[in-house]
Amino acid sequence: MATLSGGEAQRLSLMNHLNSDLDSLIFIVDEPSTGMHEIEKNNLMSILKEINKLGNTVIIVEHDKNIISQADQIIELGPDPGILGGYLVFQGSLDEIKKEKSSITGRYLSGELKVSKKPNNSKNKIKSDTKFIELSKVSTNNLKNLNVRIPLGMMVGIAGVSGSGKSSLISETLVPLLNEHFTRNNGEDEDEYIQIDDIKGKLSEWSNIADSVVISQSPIGRTKTSNPVSYIGIWDSIRKIYAKEELSKKREYTEGHFSFNSEKGGCANCKGAGSVEVQLSPTTTIDVVCEICNGTRYKQSILDVRYKGKNINELLNLTVSEALELFRDNPTISRYLSILVEIGMGYITLGQPAPTLSGGEAQRIKLAKELGKSKKSGTLYILDEPTTGLHDSDIEKLLGLLDKLVMQENSVIIIEHNSDVLSYVDYIIELGPEGGPLGGGIISLGSPQEIKLNKNSRIGPFLSVD
Ligand SMILES: [Zn+2]
Repeated sequence: MATLSGGEAQRLSLMNHLNSDLDSLIFIVDEPSTGMHEIEKNNLMSILKEINKLGNTVIIVEHDKNIISQADQIIELGPDPGILGGYLVFQGSLDEIKKEKSSITGRYLSGELKVSKKPNNSKNKIKSDTKFIELSKVSTNNLKNLNVRIPLGMMVGIAGVSGSGKSSLISETLVPLLNEHFTRNNGEDEDEYIQIDDIKGKLSEWSNIADSVVISQSPIGRTKTSNPVSYIGIWDSIRKIYAKEELSKKREYTEGHFSFNSEKGGCANCKGAGSVEVQLSPTTTIDVVCEICNGTRYKQSILDVRYKGKNINELLNLTVSEALELFRDNPTISRYLSILVEIGMGYITLGQPAPTLSGGEAQRIKLAKELGKSKKSGTLYILDEPTTGLHDSDIEKLLGLLDKLVMQENSVIIIEHNSDVLSYVDYIIELGPEGGPLGGGIISLGSPQEIKLNKNSRIGPFLSVD
């Protein structure tokens, strides 16, 4: 049995198996559609079907509707994410899942649920007062000395087949130039063009943005002690509330006592981790629940303090939705918590260790943090393939969030393959026509409506616009 992973390598590796005479193998393919254009997905599926015909079994972990609908058997887990999931929701054929009302995947496959389309008349359009940033003479990797003006104050999709130059243009050219601009002189540059030695391209009209933020799917923290509340910045406010309780005042507890990382408050045995490593053999260790604090992470005396009946450990185990009820009367805390609920993250717990959050969850927590900052405008948000690993219902939530950022007078650039997302954006810049040396040009530019009519476009036929 082979476990294969990793985009293009995955496909190459699968191709090799077509030529082998081995059969009765189980192929497990994890999210093969990641980073794939619609055309490429169909190529992948024909390879997998060949492998299947040779007498092998193929198991695909996937979110993509196109790929799921080509499977012989569909197994759906859920119904919801995190602690609300973990059940077998459905097993059966495509026809059966389409009729199954309790299956959210089935409802998307049958077309009953759809990723919302944005009507053309509610999209942002380029007008005489639209501002831009401009990249010129860009020849990073395969890019063909491109000049491109990216409109601001709207959602811009960067499209193109794998290897066409999308990331070369944005992640490897625009982002480092923006970083250079905002770090040197605090963004008070006087030069018309921002240039750096290693970057083959230059940036102008930079004064049209006040800040730039890359929102990736990387973890919000790498240790067990980082969690959503500490990342989002409401952990201090929560600890202050506990320090104001009568019992805290009597015992002279400060907010520091309510941090499991601190010596004052954290369990001394496990140093606030809630678990300790036990050495089983010279090479094997396992985590076991700390027997002093029973996994609560705190000194027992700290847990005597209660706010609305909850001690600080019980509070960290509440879901975001539950905690929102508790903190209704605190404007700062409830603002962030209600944003998380609104974007469908009400199910995570306040103290959920960062490493247990998926990439998509981490990305949405980052966006929630940005949205919670009041009165922030003029920021350019850059997202590289944000729909990776997201179910249609999550894509819907992500688009709603991005809309909000644009409504607050910010700009969004999304590098994306997902045709629902590209149909939704205000403006598309399409690179190509192919990957590698045959790519690196701009093959179409304009609103999704215009791209759909553009004969040069590769993504056009897959867009669904009114
Ligand atoms: Zn402990």
